[in-house]
Amino acid sequence: MSIISKNIQNAATLLKADKLVAIPTETVYGLAGNIYSETAIKRIFETKKRPLFNPLIVHIPSIESLEDIVSYVPEKASLLAEAFWPGSMTLVLKKHANIPDLITAGKDTVAVRVPNHPLTLELLQTLPFPLAAPSANPFGSISPTKPEHVERYFKDAIGQVLDGGPCANGIESTIIGFENNEPVIYRLGALALEDIEAVVGKVSIKNKKEVSPDAPGMLERHYAPSTRTFLTDNVSEEVKKHLGKHIGVLVFKSEVNSNAVATQIILSQEGDMAEAASKLYDAMHDLDHQNLDVIIAERFPDYGLGKSINDRLQRATF
Ligand code: AMP
Ligand code: MG
Repeated sequence: MSIISKNIQNAATLLKADKLVAIPTETVYGLAGNIYSETAIKRIFETKKRPLFNPLIVHIPSIESLEDIVSYVPEKASLLAEAFWPGSMTLVLKKHANIPDLITAGKDTVAVRVPNHPLTLELLQTLPFPLAAPSANPFGSISPTKPEHVERYFKDAIGQVLDGGPCANGIESTIIGFENNEPVIYRLGALALEDIEAVVGKVSIKNKKEVSPDAPGMLERHYAPSTRTFLTDNVSEEVKKHLGKHIGVLVFKSEVNSNAVATQIILSQEGDMAEAASKLYDAMHDLDHQNLDVIIAERFPDYGLGKSINDRLQRATF
């Protein structure tokens, strides 16, 4: 029997019993558990095979619940929350004393956001506790943007995938921390840098593990298919280097003309980066299940969501 269902009451019952439920958000599906239940939180780490040093994002129903999660909100954090919640932005702030160390990997900060999906907002309003929810995939693998992706990964390990359809934005939230009360981007994501800067002015970026021990999840190889993946500005040239192999191609808007290519996915014929972002992981799941020898991905223009897409494509390569 399928574990995919729209039943919010069933999801709430499972969560209250310390079980895990995959929840839809506008970014990717999350593997959710009660933040105050040690049993549930340990289950999240075990199910994902996620190292304990990698902290979780806390999901709350509204800005008003923020005071239960954090102890201090810088002015620019308030501005950002007002502007973008519910939405694809995670804030890293000084944690409230009640937030368990397991959630924050022992740090004195906690990552928190109000997701923008009607089913999950309703679920969060029903529950007497917030949900910790990392992406619902084994550690390092491609994030799920459809209920079927989660079912394929975790059919036997979790009680339910709450069916909210395909994720509208399709890549993870943008994570923003604060250093001396000034915003710093720890992870590029579904909210474009330009939109953030329109609200709080210039922000700095510390998106790489080497320069940002503060964002422990930013491993260089992450969001990765098991098929060997290459990222290039010139797909036709890269294809020539792999002649004779079973080649899959992932391009932004224009088809590549080559007999050597076995399968090809165009992310947005119209050249719309938001559409491309929403389809990115589904395309990667699709290509990864076609027994290809290589996937060749085209680099995006380096602005707006293109920057975030390039970040994920880069981490898919090795
Ligand atoms: P995921 O939920 O898998 O999309 O990833 C959550 C990511 O949020 C982690 O991998 C970290 O990079 C980041 N994060 C969570 N909590 C913190 C924190 N307290 N400080 C800095 N980054 C955090
Ligand atoms: Mg993840």
